[in-house]
Amino acid sequence: MYLGSLVEYGATEDIFRNPLHPYTQALFSAIPVPDPKAKMNRIVLEGSIPSPANPPKGCKFHTRCRNCMDCCKEIAPEQKEIEPGHFVNCHLYDDVPSVKPAEA
Ligand code: SF4
Repeated sequence: MYLGSLVEYGATEDIFRNPLHPYTQALFSAIPVPDPKAKMNRIVLEGSIPSPANPPKGCKFHTRCRNCMDCCKEIAPEQKEIEPGHFVNCHLYDDVPSVKPAEA
């Protein structure tokens, strides 16, 4: 969820194995690893969280997304099923046909 919208949906093991949405990827990159020698690839989100009462046009995450494209600023992404039961709302997957939104 980001600003009250579902951005990725699926089985827990699928989301941990293959996080698809840039917000999910950023959240997972912040999970501490109990190994001081482990190399961390932390994704630091820039900017502040917009007001849910006045969310950005297009993709609500576009003001903080490192993958933001022009279309993200204007058009809200539709839900795509990337693998069976694993859904994402993101323009990075626009080559996949849209599906009816999954129930939360
Ligand atoms: S739709 Fe665009 S801005 Fe939104 S998460 Fe995907 S790449 Fe980022």
